Amino acid sequence: MSAKTIFQKIADKEIPAKFEHEDELCVAIRDINPQAPTHILIIPRKPIARVEQMQPEDAAIVGHLVLTARNLAQKLHLTHGFRLVINNGRQAGETVPHLHVHLLAGRDLDWPPG
Ligand code: AMP
Repeated sequence: MSAKTIFQKIADKEIPAKFEHEDELCVAIRDINPQAPTHILIIPRKPIARVEQMQPEDAAIVGHLVLTARNLAQKLHLTHGFRLVINNGRQAGETVPHLHVHLLAGRDLDWPPG
């Protein structure tokens, strides 16, 4: 079995973190290096490495991450818009091999992204 990622340790409460949200399928934490005034990571408890490694049975989990992001956006009154990002692979900027959704908001976000 491969070693636990930092996000799995956080979800398992082996590393302390303040959860913005927690349920049976995922946890949400503030990014340690925020790229926008609001930058939250929604992390599945299941250690899916990245989108490429998703199995058909993971579709409901990843859908749940998106709904959780939507619920957090409502709770945090992100009424001017928000962006959801999933980085897959080195060239896309993935640094932690545990699938997660970035919820970014609070400033104008460029398109195309850098
Ligand atoms: P990615 O580059 O898409 O794999 O995203 C990983 C994100 O995790 C980066 O934005 C990091 O700043 C963030 N990160 C890494 N370690 C921690 C941590 N201990 N707590 C919160 N965020 C973290």
